Amino acid sequence: MHFKTIIEPFRIKTVEPIRQTTRAEREAALQKAGYNLFLLKAEDVLIDLLTDSGTGAMSSNQWAGMMQGDESYAGARSFYKFETAVREITSLKHVIPTHQGRAAERILFGAALKPGDIVPNNTHFDTTRANIEYRQAAGLDIPVAEAHQPQLDHPFKGNIDLDRLEQTIIDNPGKVPLAMITVTNNSGGGQPVSMANIRAASEICHRHGVPLFLDSCRFAENAWFIKTREEGYADKTPLAIAQEMFSYVDGATMSAKKDGMANIGGFLALNDDALAAQCKTMLILTEGFPTYGGLAGYDLEAIAVGLHEVLEEDYLRYRIRSVAYLGDKLTAAGIPIVQPPGGHAIYIDAKGMLPHIPPNEYPAWALSLVLYLEGGIRSVEIGSVMFGLQPDGSEKPSAMELVRLAFPRRMYTQSHVDYLAEVLLYVNSLKNRVRGVKIVESPNVLRHFSAILEPAHSKLIMD
Ligand SMILES: *Cc1c(COP(=O)(O)O)cnc(C)c1O
Repeated sequence: MHFKTIIEPFRIKTVEPIRQTTRAEREAALQKAGYNLFLLKAEDVLIDLLTDSGTGAMSSNQWAGMMQGDESYAGARSFYKFETAVREITSLKHVIPTHQGRAAERILFGAALKPGDIVPNNTHFDTTRANIEYRQAAGLDIPVAEAHQPQLDHPFKGNIDLDRLEQTIIDNPGKVPLAMITVTNNSGGGQPVSMANIRAASEICHRHGVPLFLDSCRFAENAWFIKTREEGYADKTPLAIAQEMFSYVDGATMSAKKDGMANIGGFLALNDDALAAQCKTMLILTEGFPTYGGLAGYDLEAIAVGLHEVLEEDYLRYRIRSVAYLGDKLTAAGIPIVQPPGGHAIYIDAKGMLPHIPPNEYPAWALSLVLYLEGGIRSVEIGSVMFGLQPDGSEKPSAMELVRLAFPRRMYTQSHVDYLAEVLLYVNSLKNRVRGVKIVESPNVLRHFSAILEPAHSKLIMD
């Protein structure tokens, strides 16, 4: 192909208007929301990059599939379509539908963990960690050292530290009932994990009799990075690569709100018969019968189709490029971001961009507010408001102050991304005038969702 433009590989059949607001309207909306973007009305947001979870657009084939949803309580045709799609990719024996990823986590950990256990992972997602801690077990994050250097360019910064994985298993006999690898590493900047790393982790785990699970929310994006960055995979299809990834593991948890291309749903898949039987019992107790697991038949249809579409090369090429395209524009303008751009999001390094704002005035939170105020963009802080509050009530600044711009799937076009870049460059031009924020009121856990804040000085942006 001698044309260099990578186009959106779809045409638009249904449109949903988004609303321009004035700066004065956004200023009022911010005040009303207690300077917390989670508390805004979504219709007051122009471009919503809060999350890529469940926010994507479905295809005409997915909607057509939904019309064929079989809502039978047990043994629905839609379940078998879903099971076939999951099996084709994972080859895992038992496929258990759940209403979203965290339900798969809760059911798996409910059956597999006991108090005092340790679950290693490259980096646990927050719901994964919370569900492990709920079982009075510990989630251990052991990414490779490169993961801790935001500016360092490395093809597989999502890799798990293999030496620490093996040492953890050896040092804690009988206390590591399973290990996990998250693809891509969401909490670590959406960075991919190489096939070599998954293979080696699998060998280590199996040598010690420990089952390995994939947190597979973004398995297709990870497969694309393997295809384009790892030697020996350029000529393989994303499906073949995904199949190889899953061939090394004993089970997987999945949020279909990510690479399932659906608005809701998930699954737990695993090979162990006894563990699967326990999980299915738990599923019936809280989610539903094993052939629907808390989902409607039409949801199972949407996911079955979505799992095929997400592995299409045109889609993945466009998806990964859209994120990198924004990353390139910001990098060219000298805006510091976590390098290289992840699969589903750009992470702006607010500490690097706003070094004059001290950590106790939450630079990443302040930056996310300014992006909304100036451009109507909603992002999310991943910094000290989210992670700074310690269990004993004290405050400890988080290692990084990031603003995540997560891309919903198949939702925005290149002109939306050009607009994002324009707003970011404008905000960068007035960065010296941006000031921090303070917390006025906040709950004791997961405070970022509902805390009330205000500017720490007279204004968010000084004249
Ligand atoms: C979203 C996510 C989950 C949890 O899935 P939900 O559908 O939100 O419950 C688990 N792990 C990772 C890596 C995720 O991104």
